[in-house]
Amino acid sequence: MNYSNSKLSTYETCPLKFKLAYIDGIRAEEEGIEAFLGSRFHEAMEKLYGELKFKTMTLDEVKAYYEEQWKKNFHEKVVIMAEGRTADDYFRLGLKFIEDYYRHYYPFNQNRLLGLEQFIEIELEGKRRYIIQGYVDRIDLTPDGVIEIHDYKTGGSLPEQAQADADRQLALYQLGVKKKWPWAEKFRLVWHYVAFDLEISSTRTPENLEELKRQVVELIEKIEEDREFAPRESTLCNWCAFWNYCPLKKHEAKLEELPANEYLNEEGVVLVNKYIEYLNQKKEAEAELEKLKEAIIVYAEKNNLSRVMGSEFHLTLSKQERIKIPNAGDEKRVLLENLIRQAGLWERLSSLDRFALEKAIKSRQLDPGLLEKLKELVTREIQISLFPGQNKGPSD
Ligand code: SF4
Repeated sequence: MNYSNSKLSTYETCPLKFKLAYIDGIRAEEEGIEAFLGSRFHEAMEKLYGELKFKTMTLDEVKAYYEEQWKKNFHEKVVIMAEGRTADDYFRLGLKFIEDYYRHYYPFNQNRLLGLEQFIEIELEGKRRYIIQGYVDRIDLTPDGVIEIHDYKTGGSLPEQAQADADRQLALYQLGVKKKWPWAEKFRLVWHYVAFDLEISSTRTPENLEELKRQVVELIEKIEEDREFAPRESTLCNWCAFWNYCPLKKHEAKLEELPANEYLNEEGVVLVNKYIEYLNQKKEAEAELEKLKEAIIVYAEKNNLSRVMGSEFHLTLSKQERIKIPNAGDEKRVLLENLIRQAGLWERLSSLDRFALEKAIKSRQLDPGLLEKLKELVTREIQISLFPGQNKGPSD
């Protein structure tokens, strides 16, 4: 598989989404309105800069082109998540971005244009050779000989400078441009945050780029070794088009399709509602039991009893002193462990930490020979736990 920055980011966001989109090749029909607006803005910029060698488009011409593309591409699966917002609101937002950008950069002759939607490809060496591809929004040459790699951002949040300095996408593009034009010496990475009419820029040292390559190879190798592609839930799920394929979301997606009267009779809903009902009763009962236990202990102590009688059952009180071991990470825990080791009692007194062993086996960082032997000695069982959580309302 060839990689791109957006594939890598998708994996980091949610390994399952990556698998569905790029391994299983499931095409997402739905598209968030924000992404739709972003694509239309990019097209308008490509048109504006593409025309420059012939003429400078007027602002009205750019806006008309944007409107034409908006209408041509709009489809019924464009999703608007923000409550109360309409497609028209976003259309007008895009117009505003274009107006601000146009007025800011007119007559667009600050630099020499070297490329638009320029395809780049780089190769990275790891356990094997990996190919990363991408399209650069715009490449400029400034009068003082700097190659600028431009990217348009239509999102509503402005990143901190530190985030721009750590951004992977444009740094990878810099590697791609350098490969394409080895004579290029000086680079600047430029983001246009058009919602703020602001530019953010950053540069990379050769050391930064070497470190970036190392991190990207590490990430790709993690992807290639992944056998689970587990779903990772986050706020970004709201913009994910794969709910029908996601074990965390497909029941919710199915329920959204059901009429209200069928919803409450759906088998899963009935089971979960019953489970939560009993769980709540259990919690209440446990709280009551705890209070009763305290009252019984007080009663027994006051009357010097070690057995308290009921009508059919009785309770015998048994006092036992138990030691409490300090938690891992506690200073006293280290001292305790050292003491036991020094006394030569470690083998006798310590026990295996199942969680730590499991983590070590799963991380695949152990010596392969040792790993095999460990795997032969431990049995595997699948444990399923249920974690209750509150459903989110439609506005969340
Ligand atoms: S809905 Fe969330 S957890 Fe499920 S695949 Fe999409 S991003 Fe991943």
